[in-house]
Amino acid sequence: MNRLVLSLFSGIDLFGKGFVNNNFCVVSAGDKFLGSDIRDFKPPQGFCDGVIGGSPCQDFSRLNRNPKDYSLEMLNQFIRVVTNVKPLWFLHENVVGVPEFVVDGYRIQRFELDLSWFNPIASRRRIFTFGFKCDAPGEYLLNPIIKNNPPTTHRAVTCQDSLSLKEMAQIQGCDFVGELEHFSVKGKKTVIGNAVPLVMSQYLAEIIDLAIYQSVTTPGEKCNCGCGRIVKGKAKHAHQNCRKKASRAALKCDTPV
Ligand SMILES: [Zn+2]
Repeated sequence: MNRLVLSLFSGIDLFGKGFVNNNFCVVSAGDKFLGSDIRDFKPPQGFCDGVIGGSPCQDFSRLNRNPKDYSLEMLNQFIRVVTNVKPLWFLHENVVGVPEFVVDGYRIQRFELDLSWFNPIASRRRIFTFGFKCDAPGEYLLNPIIKNNPPTTHRAVTCQDSLSLKEMAQIQGCDFVGELEHFSVKGKKTVIGNAVPLVMSQYLAEIIDLAIYQSVTTPGEKCNCGCGRIVKGKAKHAHQNCRKKASRAALKCDTPV
């Protein structure tokens, strides 16, 4: 293992920064606003341990009234790169409305994190899809936290945010706003608002480091909902939200076509 991580759709890459801060080496495939089109990105197989990225999510967001197919196309590009590189693991970030997806040859864990579980200022619900190569030795499983949402003073930061740039940067964990001096205020807000909050990416890098690189695993049974969290005692679900999610999924399966 080489602790090399490929970051896709990296933007200002607070996602990658969380891994850098946990002693990973992160390389970026660039981004659209830097002139890099992911459709032209042809990486060699097996050069890195991990692939991370939050593909554009506008069309999956419930706030969007004019969804187009772009987000789906970009999600498929993420899957294409993972399929070509065949990393040991991958981690995809997106909004709650992102469709469930699988990648051939990977065991999948889909779980939610909310920024408010780390920082009570703002809520930002995000879905993470973690994949681990089926034919790799050992079974690695993340055991991410799950909490109820505390009351917050601000909803998720977006690029149209009324907050000041300074407040936005603080919530997202961007401490290099000064380096973005060539961006307009709107541009700064866009790239900061699109980023994965640093406190979340650091947490994810930490639990990946523990599970895969330090082989610290939590013994126990897996939650039935597919989030992969470890359940306590004889419980079938890690949290009441997992139980709701599992029963919704069961209902879907029972619906006659
Ligand atoms: Zn669960």
